[in-house]
Amino acid sequence: MEAKSFLSVEECRNVIDAIAEAENNCSGEIRVNIANKAGENVMESAVNVFYSLEMDKTLRKNGVLFFIASEDRRFAVIGDEGINNVVPENFWNDVCALMIEYFKKEEFGAGLVAGIQKCGEKLAEFFPPVDNDIDELPNEIAYEDAK
Ligand code: CA
Ligand code: CA
Repeated sequence: MEAKSFLSVEECRNVIDAIAEAENNCSGEIRVNIANKAGENVMESAVNVFYSLEMDKTLRKNGVLFFIASEDRRFAVIGDEGINNVVPENFWNDVCALMIEYFKKEEFGAGLVAGIQKCGEKLAEFFPPVDNDIDELPNEIAYEDAK
């Protein structure tokens, strides 16, 4: 499935709403990127896109990227060091496991929303909202290809 048709218009809206809601409750920043291919290593591709979207530039190093490779049916969830240093070791695996339950049923939008909500709860725990919070990274879905 091509990246641009991975989510329906309604699913895109639900995902963007979930990001906005999660970001209302914390100072972290969440992004979703849908690529066609996973590249040689989906984790490495996710890291490369993380940098290419300048997600490493958040003030508190608390950006989280959901990287999906729609044609290869692979995905990865990665967090910047600020969040990576504080969440339990198995946290990212738990998020992925939750999403896989939905993805197995082809419920890609709902799976992303569930993953975003779970990350949002964790971000809220460690990075509570701050006064004059700014939206450091756009909530819109990105479509960078694997690098
Ligand atoms: Ca923010
Ligand atoms: Ca944002």
